[in-house]
Amino acid sequence: MNHFERRDLVTGEAGHGSLYCEGVPLERIAREVGTPTYVYSKATVTRHVRVWLDAWGGLDHQMCFAVKACSNLAILALMAKAGAGFDIVSEGELARVLRAGGRADKVVFSGVGKTRHELLAALEAGVGCINVESADELVMVDEVARTSGRRAPVSLRVNPDVDAKTHPYIATGLMRSKFGIAWAEAPSLYEAARALANVDVIGVDCHIGSQLESEKPFVEALDRVLDLVADLAARGFGIRHIDIGGGLGITYRDETPPSPVEYVNAVRARLEARGMEHLRVLTEPGRVIVGNAGCLLSRVVLTKHNGPTRFVVLDAGMNDLIRPALYQAWHAIEPVAAPRDEVELVDVVGPVCESGDAFAKDRSLPRLVAEDLVILRSAGAYGMVMASNYNSRPRPAEVLVDGDRFHIVRARETLDDLVRGEVIPEV
Ligand SMILES: *Cc1c(COP(=O)(O)O)cnc(C)c1O
Repeated sequence: MNHFERRDLVTGEAGHGSLYCEGVPLERIAREVGTPTYVYSKATVTRHVRVWLDAWGGLDHQMCFAVKACSNLAILALMAKAGAGFDIVSEGELARVLRAGGRADKVVFSGVGKTRHELLAALEAGVGCINVESADELVMVDEVARTSGRRAPVSLRVNPDVDAKTHPYIATGLMRSKFGIAWAEAPSLYEAARALANVDVIGVDCHIGSQLESEKPFVEALDRVLDLVADLAARGFGIRHIDIGGGLGITYRDETPPSPVEYVNAVRARLEARGMEHLRVLTEPGRVIVGNAGCLLSRVVLTKHNGPTRFVVLDAGMNDLIRPALYQAWHAIEPVAAPRDEVELVDVVGPVCESGDAFAKDRSLPRLVAEDLVILRSAGAYGMVMASNYNSRPRPAEVLVDGDRFHIVRARETLDDLVRGEVIPEV
């Protein structure tokens, strides 16, 4: 459920008319802020957080929002206010969390290539757990902890070798993946961790992929993690939590992933079946919280014909929203004004000088003409965070809608922003 709906301008009723985000007409945002602009619905974000947290009722659960999905400070502040923690993958994300009012002790630090510098920053901030992804990293963590006079709380991110059945670019739980520690090596690495003087082994971590559409791989991975927890317990480890990662999918088109409640209930059922429901459970949801809470608002620059194909050229491109070009991702595209009756088969493309810069091919859409506004739906996750300046295009503004008001939560980049830090040497 989200709050991007059509409303009749006269009656205010849902269904027809032009698109609103909560109580704000998207036309107004385009007029006052320009395009392309990311628009987020505060009510949708807070509702998704609430549903996620409530679903775990009765269990000892800590949500750690995956910052990489959407890292705007205003969004992170909403999470912090709701009591969420954070899953970070860089020092930059740590800085964002702290600026947004997030608590360091509710932060878990993931990633295959954490540098010494980043590990030190995390220990100094007092993060709750470092999710270690390799033997070398484990040694680094111990050294950094020793030289900084701190103890390092760690989990090992194990690779349960289950097939998440998702796009290969976002599947992370297979044996050949760069992520995590090979299943067979996990027990010996736990022993190695226990022998280190400056490390506290507190958990077991996994994350098997993103945009998963079934609970089956989650349950399979959980079972393997619980096997490991039982094995470690028998050997005297004090495992305090399991971190089962993120990855629950959303509906972009016609996918039917489990709802958050169904997902949590499947996890709960497994924990209970194995008598392990007293374990503390950490989750790292990203997409499921913010994906459908954001849209990219864009304007049609012009339309053109090449051979049999009619192109609708937007003022947003792959630099603003790369998912279609990177993962062949499908985003719903809709006119902001009441849709015209005439339907056309079109390619919707951006202005970037790459053939891959296309949002949709052979898509049936209500007729669009120059100056029309459109939205690309479900762009709240892995949208703005992946935006770049390719083709020297300033990155979009971001807007947070709150009822019938909106806030610009990130200004559109300027031409000065584009060249910040660049220098022409005297020759
Ligand atoms: C990307 C990522 C997540 C979030 O994945 P979603 O599919 O957005 O829920 C969680 N944990 C880790 C370690 C990740 O890399």
